[in-house]
Amino acid sequence: MANNNYAENLFTSSGAILNGHFLLTSGLHSPVYWEKFRILQYPEYTSRLCQMIAGNFSNDEVEVVIGPTTGGIILSYEVARYLGTRGIFAEKTHAGNRALKRGFEIKTGERVLLVDDVLTTGKSIMEVVDVINRAQGKLVGIGVLVDRSEKALDVDAPLYSCIRSETITYRPENCPLCAEGIPLVKPGSSEV
Ligand SMILES: [Zn+2]
Repeated sequence: MANNNYAENLFTSSGAILNGHFLLTSGLHSPVYWEKFRILQYPEYTSRLCQMIAGNFSNDEVEVVIGPTTGGIILSYEVARYLGTRGIFAEKTHAGNRALKRGFEIKTGERVLLVDDVLTTGKSIMEVVDVINRAQGKLVGIGVLVDRSEKALDVDAPLYSCIRSETITYRPENCPLCAEGIPLVKPGSSEV
C-alpha cells in the first residue's frame, strides 16, 4: 500500500511498535507487538491515519461510523469528523458479544463504515459486524490502522488498512525466543 511507509513512520515515532518476546491473546508468541494506544495518545498522528481511512471511503455515502471499544471509540469519532457523519461504538455485553448502548442506533439500511485499530484475529470486528447485521444496517467497508491478519475476514465488504504488516508468530513449543531464554511478556492492552 502506497501509504504504508508514511503510516508506519507514525507508529515508529510514537513508540507503538515494540520488539521483544510477547504472549499474544491467541496463545502464540511473537517478537513484535503493536501497542496501539501509544499512537492513539497523539491526536495529530491518530487524526492523520483517520484521514487516510476517511479518504478511502469518501465516495461510499457513509452515514455512520462504528468501532469496538476501546480504541474504536477514538477512531470512529475522528473518522466520522472527516466524513461529516455520526460516530458511535459497540460495547461488550455480559453475554460476551457486543451491543449498542447509550442511545446509539443504526437505522435499517443505514450505510455503516466499521473502523478498528489493529486487526489480528478479527474477533472484535466480527462482533461489530454482528451488531450491524442485527440492526439491518448496510456495511460499506472496514478501515483499520494496522492489518496483521493471517487469513481474510469472512465479510462481504472491502477492507482498507493504513499499514499491512504480517504477524510473525511461534507456537510456544517451537519458539526460538523461548529457546534463547528471553523472558515472555504479556502486553497490557486487553483487546485484540
Ligand atoms: Zn516464546
